Amino acid sequence: MSDCIFCKIANGEIPAELVYQDKDIIAFNDIKPQAPVHILFIPRQHIETLDDVKNLGIYSSIFKAIGEVVKTKNLDKDGYRVVANCKGDGGQEVYHVHFHLLGGRPMKWPPG
Ligand code: AMP
Ligand code: ZN
Repeated sequence: MSDCIFCKIANGEIPAELVYQDKDIIAFNDIKPQAPVHILFIPRQHIETLDDVKNLGIYSSIFKAIGEVVKTKNLDKDGYRVVANCKGDGGQEVYHVHFHLLGGRPMKWPPG
């Protein structure tokens, strides 16, 4: 999708601090971090929302990637949070499926 900011990151048109990549997934630091570690995991393929995911294999690829980054960022001892926002009420701002990995400080619950 030509006007999607995450597609532009995935194809190198816009710079990002990449922390992980494989054939299906890339992960990069969030530009407005909400925690000491705040990384976004996206499929390379443009999929707008969780409701548009047809190939559930994407979830296993994303969680495999998250598991690897959790180890490289040493989040496995103290823990972390994984969040996916969907559409308006979910607070989704960028309409290209992504999962947030947050860590490095205690998280509050429930979210606002
Ligand atoms: P969401 O509200 O779940 O759609 O989250 C979108 C996230 O993308 C926010 O946390 C933004 O800070 C982040 N974001 C937006 N533009 C960029 C960018 N160019 N590079 C990295 N993160 C971004
Ligand atoms: Zn996209």
